[in-house]
Amino acid sequence: MIVVMNSEAGDEAIERVVAQVKELGLSPQVIRGTHQTVVAAIGEERPGLLEALEPMTGVEKVLPIMDPYKRASRELRAEPTIVKTRGLEIGGKSIAMIAGPCSVENLEQIVSIAIRLKALGASALRGGAFKPRTSPYSFQGHKLEGLKMLAAARDATGLAIVTEVMAPEHVPMVAEYADVLQIGARNMQNYQLLQAVGESGKPALLKRGMSSTMDEFLLAAEYILDRGNPNVILCERGIRTFEDHTRFTLPLTTVPYLKQKTHLPVIVDPSHGTGKASLVAAMSKASIAAGADGLILEVHEDPKKAMSDGSQTITPAAFEQIMTDCRRIAEAVDRAL
Ligand code: PEP
Ligand code: MN
Repeated sequence: MIVVMNSEAGDEAIERVVAQVKELGLSPQVIRGTHQTVVAAIGEERPGLLEALEPMTGVEKVLPIMDPYKRASRELRAEPTIVKTRGLEIGGKSIAMIAGPCSVENLEQIVSIAIRLKALGASALRGGAFKPRTSPYSFQGHKLEGLKMLAAARDATGLAIVTEVMAPEHVPMVAEYADVLQIGARNMQNYQLLQAVGESGKPALLKRGMSSTMDEFLLAAEYILDRGNPNVILCERGIRTFEDHTRFTLPLTTVPYLKQKTHLPVIVDPSHGTGKASLVAAMSKASIAAGADGLILEVHEDPKKAMSDGSQTITPAAFEQIMTDCRRIAEAVDRAL
């Protein structure tokens, strides 16, 4: 429910509404606007709530939040959420470019690619220290050592670090090194992980599960928001379909759809979305044109030698070209890069 207070309502009336919301078993969130204050009453909608809140002093009207995801919904918050951390800003006018290898391979590799990407205008460094691999025999990541290498790359460049966390019990360790905690597609509905990331206070980059609907995706974001963490970035990374010309099918309609339904920033991963380096540039440009707030791209000095996801990984030169081309598209859609 959204309780819209009238413009004369003072603090006392607002506090009484907050107390009543708690009494009803819902959790209150006071949002003070320039003209009016609203009290969001978050929880399951049920009969009787409207009748309990509408007659209260200072209340102008009470509206239900129709979407099942309450905190993520545009109905609750019209202005976009801008996630900011260490020079990375996602959701405002400027487009964020998160780039880096699929996996952190060694100290020299991650520091040198970070320096290169920083010079080319990247906004943050990605790199997996914990890798969710289909086969247990594939490289699983350097784990804590990989996190330390990422921290060294940050020290060398100032770039914010985006890295995946796979288990709730690893959240404190990964949060010690990362600026943004990535939750991978395979873990989008790992609710204990979502809650632990929510409690960490670190911004979260939530990837869409490869067979998840938009409601499931936004309800997963809701788990993080509901633990008091407002900084959630949504990432479309492609879904499973009958198509086999690409690794996944990358649906870009989700970008304008999500921008309508939620105030959270939305980015696209054309690397996993296509699985093919030759398709990454076109889908990067299309994503910005569709209204994405940023991209996350896999970049490696020598993609053929990458320890994971080499076939979808682009070179720094290709990244440079994408930056140039996306800058023109950004301008055309009234954004900056
Ligand atoms: C990754 O970013 O390297 C990754 C494993 O992504 P996803 O969870 O989207 O497959
Ligand atoms: Mn990858």
